[in-house]
Amino acid sequence: MQQIDTLSRETSSKHIETENILEVSHLKKTFHIKQADGKKGLLRAVNDVSFTLKKGETFSLVGESGCGKSTLARTLLGLHPSDDGSKIIFKGEDITNMPRSKHKQFARQAQLIFQDPSACLNPRRTIRQILLEPFKIHKIKNGESKIGELLDLVGLGTRYLDMYPHEMSGGQKQRVGIARALALDPELIVCDEPVSALDVSIQAQVINLLEDLQKQLNLTYLFISHDLSVVHHISDRVGVMYLGEIVELTTRDKLYEETQHPYTKSLLSSIPETDGKSREKIILKGDVPSPSNPPAGCRFHTRCPSVMDICKKEAPDFIQTDNDHSVACHLFTK
Ligand code: SF4
Repeated sequence: MQQIDTLSRETSSKHIETENILEVSHLKKTFHIKQADGKKGLLRAVNDVSFTLKKGETFSLVGESGCGKSTLARTLLGLHPSDDGSKIIFKGEDITNMPRSKHKQFARQAQLIFQDPSACLNPRRTIRQILLEPFKIHKIKNGESKIGELLDLVGLGTRYLDMYPHEMSGGQKQRVGIARALALDPELIVCDEPVSALDVSIQAQVINLLEDLQKQLNLTYLFISHDLSVVHHISDRVGVMYLGEIVELTTRDKLYEETQHPYTKSLLSSIPETDGKSREKIILKGDVPSPSNPPAGCRFHTRCPSVMDICKKEAPDFIQTDNDHSVACHLFTK
């Protein structure tokens, strides 16, 4: 990820407002599953997650694969219904499990950029047809006049309009995915691992494009990633997820320089510091437990290098340790 680390981070023209565009409280998402022994079970993919997003900021959710970050994003966008007790407020309006008729209105303002551009573009459709889709779905007439502008905006140009996805590189396809997400002038974009399927050499270009578009269009990003180098580059604030829960939430700088949660420390130990030095490597023992059968007490206790007796019995509260720093760990509560 050297390319992204070495890019300059320009924040001068970025405008983060004080108003919250999104408020998520006690979000839970449980799936009914069939277990290996054939019995029915429950998989709580997202467990009581709360956070807010300010208009114009990039808030990242980071964690290992399977930690629930993508399920959380999809639940927010209404692609999965959330469990009872969850609350999602978008621009002051309660949109939790809203009826389909209202959802269409929200879908115009909140869009998703997918991880794999090859899988999310219909191979039988031209780029023109792909970009016209959102306009057709929302019965908006001026689509034809906007699609050229959209391709210009993402650095492609109208010569790509009559191509098919297989005629384009991965980076170009992801630019089409971004153009499609921008078609209806959204305010919030959920970027779900938007560069992890791309070559490292292309990742920095797409991240730069996302940053430029944010400044130009005053977009708010919920950025989902397992890659702490990308997250370090693009984020204003970061939430670290483990087994469906946010265990640490703070500003980008505090997360990397004043790390509190043992899980975050282990994740960060694998990436170089900004001055190029390596951190002390922390190798976690064991695999991530199944979210259908999470450990009692602190969910991280089976792998935590700082585990104490209390961690096996009591789940730590998510407490504020500083103005803009919260953590769920008994090291900070007892
Ligand atoms: Fe580790 Fe205990 Fe903190 Fe959990 S609560 S992260 S097990 S020290």
